[in-house]
Amino acid sequence: MKNKVIFGNWKMNGTNADIKAFLKTVDKKAKNDKVIAGLAVPFTALETAIKKAKNIKIAAENVHWAENGAYTGEVSIPMLQELGVEYVVIGHSERREMFGETDEAVNKKALALLKAGMVPILCCGETLETYENKKTNKFVSDQIKKGFKDISAEDAKKVIIAYEPIWAIGTGKTATPEIAQDVCATIRETLGKVYNKTIAKEIAIQYGGSVKPANIKDLMKQKDIDGALVGGASLIAEDYLELINYNK
Ligand code: PEP
Repeated sequence: MKNKVIFGNWKMNGTNADIKAFLKTVDKKAKNDKVIAGLAVPFTALETAIKKAKNIKIAAENVHWAENGAYTGEVSIPMLQELGVEYVVIGHSERREMFGETDEAVNKKALALLKAGMVPILCCGETLETYENKKTNKFVSDQIKKGFKDISAEDAKKVIIAYEPIWAIGTGKTATPEIAQDVCATIRETLGKVYNKTIAKEIAIQYGGSVKPANIKDLMKQKDIDGALVGGASLIAEDYLELINYNK
């Protein structure tokens, strides 16, 4: 069995002082042979986080695909690499919904990150309306095809996918393990068609959406769920530790 990949996502929360205090509490307890533990933090906290984290992988929450240029307010891949960042969340639904990030932009970011030897955590997921209209599987499958456009088979294996139904993010409503498994299986099937079954099996698929200590075990038991991306619960040191050590 491959290792589970469990990342927190702090969104627009946490000063340098906050992340320092958090990592002081959790980092030494984050050693786990079966789990790759990570945390996505705001750009301003990356340097501190990288310095303080020994067992936890630190991720950025966004990036621009261009190396440099007239993109006020954006952050480039070389800027992240200078800090030692290896993982970057792209296409989070909050960025798609509030800041107009498209599948095409997500694809450009993924291609640029892979070219730079970094790991994209590529988010996908449907709205409540799409879910209620029973169009989730087709919608998510299309997002995956567009997000992986022109990505070679070799690079595809390095991508982490986060399936996050928008109706479950920050709402307290978790998709049941069965629903989450069903969509993650569709994602794997789509990858199998774009690449092949062997490659599809190697790609880690996280579930995200109100994951907490009380529901993580059942979610992680699902065949096609290889980890979790966790927002709210990852801000609480005790909960974060329970999540990344769910198997202990
Ligand atoms: C997220 O931000 O990716 C997320 C899943 O948030 P929450 O766990 O709070 O639903």
